[in-house]
Amino acid sequence: MELSGKTALVTGASRGIGAAIVRRLAEAGAHVAVNYAGSRDAAEALVAKIESAGGKAFAVQADVGTLGGIRSMLDACDAVFGGAPNLDILVNNAGVGGEGDTGSLTKCSEELFDRMIAVNQKAPHFITQYCLPRLRDGGRIVNIGSLGGRSALPPFAAYAATKRALQSLTMSTAVVVGPRGITCNLVAPGAVDTEFNKTLAEKPGWAEATSKLTPMKRLGVPQDIAGAVMMLCRDEAQWVTGQIVEASGGLFL
Ligand code: NAP
Repeated sequence: MELSGKTALVTGASRGIGAAIVRRLAEAGAHVAVNYAGSRDAAEALVAKIESAGGKAFAVQADVGTLGGIRSMLDACDAVFGGAPNLDILVNNAGVGGEGDTGSLTKCSEELFDRMIAVNQKAPHFITQYCLPRLRDGGRIVNIGSLGGRSALPPFAAYAATKRALQSLTMSTAVVVGPRGITCNLVAPGAVDTEFNKTLAEKPGWAEATSKLTPMKRLGVPQDIAGAVMMLCRDEAQWVTGQIVEASGGLFL
């Protein structure tokens, strides 16, 4: 129980990668706030499962794409965790892409573009800003980026640009929090089998072709990313900060 006595907030955690991160941190003993936007049943089922296994978690509804949503999420966390400083681990995981290539250079609408900026870029900035006084010294911030943040991906141009921005935020944050012994790193997943990739997974041959591009010869599963996050939350990772950790099975992109 290496995270016993620690608190954590994971955004966008009702399903997919966020839910796997919650399970991993709770399994290690952390008390975890499970943020979700619309999937209330899934978030509550996840909390119930953790509690039935002896862990500690609670669900918090909030659209992190708005400052009002971020404030209400943190108020709800304060109500459970107590007065600041009250947080050891912040995982900025919530993210939106487009269906298929709707976020491409040629097709992206202004509405989708603004939504991706709000959830993928604005949210981590302001959640981190508001969490600075809440984080305990020696804490951890992990941003969930994407391999797309370093690659030329025209079908996902708008999405990938937000993840590039998150890399920059990660490095700036590491400088700000470093003197307090807090680390800030970015985990960049490759292709992970979640609803996020539903439209791609429905394309015949996509999963096989993508798997072939990895030395591991398979798509990722959410637990692969949760493992990388857990690695960064350990005491042994105290000297690792400002880094981009690719958890992609070595995907060549
Ligand atoms: P997913 O299965 O689509 O889950 C997305 C999660 O984000 C859901 O829990 C959703 O909550 C939440 N969310 C979306 N908008 C939100 C908002 N405005 N406020 C709060 N929560 C919100 O996606 P995933 O595959 O797990 O992706 C998680 C992260 O990994 C994202 O940042 C994504 O960009 C990144 N990533 C994924 C892949 C991949 O291959 N899957 C690859 C690279 C990077 P509700 O269900 O309640 O709406």
